Amino acid sequence: MRIGHGYDAHRLAAGRPLVLGGVEIESALGLAGHSDADVLCHAVMDALLGAAGLEDIGHWFPDTDPACRGARSLDLLRRVSEMLTARGLVVGNVDITVVAQRPALAPHRAAMCRNLARALGCAPDQIGIKATTEEGMGFTGAGEGIAAHAVALLFPA
Ligand code: MG
Repeated sequence: MRIGHGYDAHRLAAGRPLVLGGVEIESALGLAGHSDADVLCHAVMDALLGAAGLEDIGHWFPDTDPACRGARSLDLLRRVSEMLTARGLVVGNVDITVVAQRPALAPHRAAMCRNLARALGCAPDQIGIKATTEEGMGFTGAGEGIAAHAVALLFPA
């Protein structure tokens, strides 16, 4: 088996949608970025790429590439999944922690798990999504941004 870790953070900004795990969440502020800035999907992609021994998300989907502008990160995740399949790897499980002062993510957790499972061709119970605050400390606590950590386990197909 192979294990990978991913981390990402994006700045919160006005006039942007808040997309996490492919779910658009009602929020006054959204995440700034070249793509839809889905920080959860980005952390998962880097965990999967790392587990596969491949270059990171910035290599495959550079923010200088006009094709990635406004891209749905769930679609990019699907492309990572295809890369794993091509290398004879399947997902064992993925576990994610989103760090955000607000909004509450619990109401969206099941939909996010379903989205990720569909993109990765696995079952929703192979995806763990947890959310925490940092109790007002640091950039997530100040509401300046949202961060996400992910670990992924891959097996030979
Ligand atoms: Mg990112």
